[in-house]
Formats: sequence, C-alpha cells, structure tokens
Amino acid sequence: TPPDSDSPTIFDKIIKKEIPSTVVYEDDKFQWKFFIHTRTRAACLFLYFLESRLFLHVNMPTVQKIFKCVLAFRDIQPQGPTHILVIPKVRDGLTGLSKAEERHIDILGRLLYTAKLVAKQEGLDDGYRVVINDGPKGCQSVYHIHVHVIGGRQMNWPPG
Ligand code: 5GP
Repeated sequence: TPPDSDSPTIFDKIIKKEIPSTVVYEDDKFQWKFFIHTRTRAACLFLYFLESRLFLHVNMPTVQKIFKCVLAFRDIQPQGPTHILVIPKVRDGLTGLSKAEERHIDILGRLLYTAKLVAKQEGLDDGYRVVINDGPKGCQSVYHIHVHVIGGRQMNWPPG
C-alpha cells in the first residue's frame, strides 16, 4: 500500500546525492511556486535578483538547489538500452500522479518536457515510451512521482 505523503523515499537520497546515480539532466529553471510555498515574497525577489546578477559568475550549490527543480537519472534496473527516470526535486505531496492538484500543473508539464529533452539527448529519434506507474495496480514501487523514459528497442503495445 502507498505510504503517507510525508514518508521519504529512495529518491530523496538520490536527490541529496546520498545514493549515487547517473544524472543525465538537471534543469536550471527558477520555480516561483515552490519557493513561494516556503519563503516570503521579499526573499524570493532578493534571490531572483541574485540569480540574475551573480549566478553567471558565482557557483552557489545550496542556493542553486532552489532554482533546479527537475532531475533525470538512469534507472538501476533498465527495461531497455535507455531507461531514464525524471523526477521533481521537491515532491510537494506528489507521491504519484493520482495525487496531482492544480498547483502541480507547472511541474507536471516540466516533467513531460524534460522527458522529451532527455529522449532527444539519448538519440531516441525513432521513438520511445513514456510511462507513469500509479498505485499498486499500476505497479508503482517508489512513491515520489516519476516519469519513465524507455527506448533503444522496439516497444510493444498493449504493455500487459
Ligand atoms: P515504479 O515501479 O515506481 O514506476 O518505478 C521505480 C523505478 O525506480 C524502478 O524502475 C526501479 O528500478 C527504480 N529504482 C529503484 N531504486 C533505485 C535506485 O536506488 N536507483 C535508481 N537509479 N533507480 C532506482
């Protein structure tokens, strides 16, 4: 059964680099909505100012985390020559797609767009499969929403 929405998953350790993974993409888009949830608008504006003025010259890993919201890494049990997982770095209640709310629309779009970017980066020009498993009957095993990008071989339909 799915855990409650606060329980950590293995992906939290991957995000914190406590467990090694092969990262293939990490974005650098500033996510206003995530930041406004946890900080004041003033701090938000201040950091936005810092980002626009300083980030071209200064590498600040802790601050950068706020600006990078999507991570893509190779699946440890690949179901094809290419198998990548795309996840939000802040789960924000999105244990699975079935928990999506209006506030998640931006991140959901970004996850799918990142799936397209990594597929292109991997050279999957003849096609690929994008999957979100949800809940026990959808064979979901990690309760931190993730998009599978699988390719490099002929996929079958229906999946079974
Ligand atoms: P789900 O079954 O929830 O849709 O997919 C979870 C995926 O996470 C599985 O394909 C599984 O192989 C992958 N996975 C589980 N633990 C790890 C891990 O520690 N590292 C990586 N890279 N992938 C993992």
